[in-house]
Amino acid sequence: MTIGQVDDRDHIGRALRTIEQCALHRRSLRLTCQRCRLVRVLDAIPVWWLFQQRGWPHDLSGAARRFACSACRETGHRSEPTIEVGRDRPEGPQPPYPDEREWKRLVSRYRS
Ligand SMILES: [Zn+2]
Repeated sequence: MTIGQVDDRDHIGRALRTIEQCALHRRSLRLTCQRCRLVRVLDAIPVWWLFQQRGWPHDLSGAARRFACSACRETGHRSEPTIEVGRDRPEGPQPPYPDEREWKRLVSRYRS
């Protein structure tokens, strides 16, 4: 597996456009700060749950504004990352994972 490879299509070639779809397809989100180039790799599942709880829209195109870079914030700047969908192994602290019941509810919604 190539690190940093973008993999934003499902098994039949449809683009993954929402965090929900990324979570269901077990992708990770690679966030690169546009200012300091700091990279964070987040598991899409806890990110989905975070957005779900906050009532934020799930579209990937609008998700970047929810992630201000913490390193830049410490120096008084605010910077949004670019988000790439891939299969990198998540690194560093992750948002809390959903409990089993919430996760199964999402999965079953998509199976039917
Ligand atoms: Zn930064």
